[in-house]
Amino acid sequence: MSKQTHSFQAEVSQLLHLVTHSLYSNSEIFLRELISNASDACDKLRFEALNNAALYEDAPELQVHLSFDTAAKTLTITDNGIGMTAQEAIDHLGTIAKSGTKDFMSKLSGDQKSDAQLIGQFGVGFYSGFIVADKITVETRRAGAPAAEGVRWISGGTGDFEVETISRDQRGTSVILHLREEGLVYANSWKLKEIVGKYSDHISLPILMEKEEWKDGELIDPKDEKGGRQPGAMVKTGEWDTINKASALWTRAKKDITGEQYADFYKQISRDFEAPLTWTHNRVEGSTEYTQLLYIPSKAPQDLWNRDKKAGIKLYVKRVFIMDDAEALMPSYLRFVKGVVDSADLPLNVSRELLQESRDVKAIREGCTKRVLSMLEDLAKHDKAQQATDEVTDVLSEEDKAKLGQYSKFYAEFGAVLKEGLGEDFGNRERLLKLLRFASSSSDTMSVSLADYKARMKDGQDAIYYITADTLAAAKNSPQLEVFKKKGIEVLLMTDRVDEWALNFVQEFDGTPLQSVAKGAFDLGKLQDEEEKKAAQEAAETFKPMLAKLKEALKDKAEDVRVTSRLVDSPACLVVTDDGMSMQLARMLKQAGQSAPEVKPVLEVNPEHALVKKLDGSVHFHDLAHILFDQALLAEGGLPADPAAYVKRVNALLS
Ligand code: ADP
Repeated sequence: MSKQTHSFQAEVSQLLHLVTHSLYSNSEIFLRELISNASDACDKLRFEALNNAALYEDAPELQVHLSFDTAAKTLTITDNGIGMTAQEAIDHLGTIAKSGTKDFMSKLSGDQKSDAQLIGQFGVGFYSGFIVADKITVETRRAGAPAAEGVRWISGGTGDFEVETISRDQRGTSVILHLREEGLVYANSWKLKEIVGKYSDHISLPILMEKEEWKDGELIDPKDEKGGRQPGAMVKTGEWDTINKASALWTRAKKDITGEQYADFYKQISRDFEAPLTWTHNRVEGSTEYTQLLYIPSKAPQDLWNRDKKAGIKLYVKRVFIMDDAEALMPSYLRFVKGVVDSADLPLNVSRELLQESRDVKAIREGCTKRVLSMLEDLAKHDKAQQATDEVTDVLSEEDKAKLGQYSKFYAEFGAVLKEGLGEDFGNRERLLKLLRFASSSSDTMSVSLADYKARMKDGQDAIYYITADTLAAAKNSPQLEVFKKKGIEVLLMTDRVDEWALNFVQEFDGTPLQSVAKGAFDLGKLQDEEEKKAAQEAAETFKPMLAKLKEALKDKAEDVRVTSRLVDSPACLVVTDDGMSMQLARMLKQAGQSAPEVKPVLEVNPEHALVKKLDGSVHFHDLAHILFDQALLAEGGLPADPAAYVKRVNALLS
């Protein structure tokens, strides 16, 4: 193929413009990105070679070479990985295939300053080379292809690039950066070693650089020893040194890894720019042997709620990279966990399908789940310590101090996902229940555990009371809470969308049943004294005829009408039967376009309320009955079935 010119995809041109104009203040990241590409290319070769060893072409040692030429002003990153065909070079280096990059591009505002920050946090991959180079030459050959099918790709990083066929003996890729003036600082071995140490130590591939030696300058006058010398210079020796640790981070002993290295590794594998909240690193021995390095991110990703979201675990087998997003290794409710599992037992050619069935994988998944839960329990314990007394902090180790307050941060980001586990992972339900935190009628912050609640229960209280609602305000001000407030009984306020669903799977905690305050007949058991019970019975008796009339008036809306002692200030409220779906869940399902059974609630009225007392004998009985019902619906965040009719009725009464 002779020289051809191609245009970059529009997004690439836009990205290139941004890269060159906004990233110069953080220019060194180009090396991390290019080495990471080289490392990926070697991983891909290793993987393809599992079924086709010929791809190694007698050079089975995968390596990256860094070299620079100060005279020519070039810096070259060479790998002997998978390489690219001409078509691949055109496709991969001329377009943006990754959906992540596209998402990212759509977030850019065009405002130089904030875009620069965003782009610095994101990996820009290959194109980051243009931060330091005004021209890039890529020479590459696909592993297994003949030497004559080498490819040269050249671009100045503006609108287009050129591609031509060349002859290339070595398989893999050389990226030759023609450095700008400002990029010349990178044509320096100290500088390169420093950056490799910072970003690429844990890359399992050796990164080599040509050794240099100081060579004294020539004597100015060889005949005269005292004649002085020309300045000396560093010269290349032809020998290559490995300049990174070249051992996969997770294979090293914990004590040899600093917190910073753990965090850097996390950033590398997750593409997150924030440090992780915490991590756990273990070698698990026994019938199934594997190493796990699992991280909990500080922030939830935007697609957290997508249950099809890719899992964050990379699978290695005996240090060979096998696959990203190995969903079989972590349950869906822990999909936010990122990390690496390196198995000693799985076959190298394991496929996704095989993973689903493997007993080893099942064991790994259980082990990883338990580890994550322990990690969370540990954070939760430290949060508790902080709540208990601030003095504790004086006697804590640095490591433990770092954990203080972390659990509430975790919970704010991921607590709602964790709840999915109640329906998904029966084996760990007890542990999960202990990890849950709620707001309650006596605490606005999401900090009340079920155990806290139990410890604070009143004498004679035999249930854990909760209410579900769309918002905290709706839950807190719900009429159903009135008598609980009056009696000083704590009620958990549940406002996550998954709460209702998750609670379906939970009947009790530690022997105490969970009871919705909006379900079933009102019964506080021993918390109500005899007099109250008697008064309630009497009220039920006196109101019997009126209740029958109300029931008749509302027969299309309410399943039943009864008096209640759960209300103090409000005239009425709605409840559902014990086994019925809550009104809130039914609304949610409808909003989500799913079919939900028609829930006909029970209208409960407060016999002490002036409005209820006035009802009987009123000429407006019919209108008042409907207003009572619709208001009860409004009070819990619902909407009257016919809002206009409601407004009309209220206005008629007002005027
Ligand atoms: P990313 O690496 O995140 O996919 P890049 O823009 O860095 O994005 O690279 C785009 C694609 O170009 C890669 O996915 C890969 O297919 C190809 N590529 C880049 N560098 C190399 C390399 N050194 N060897 C082989 N292919 C490469």
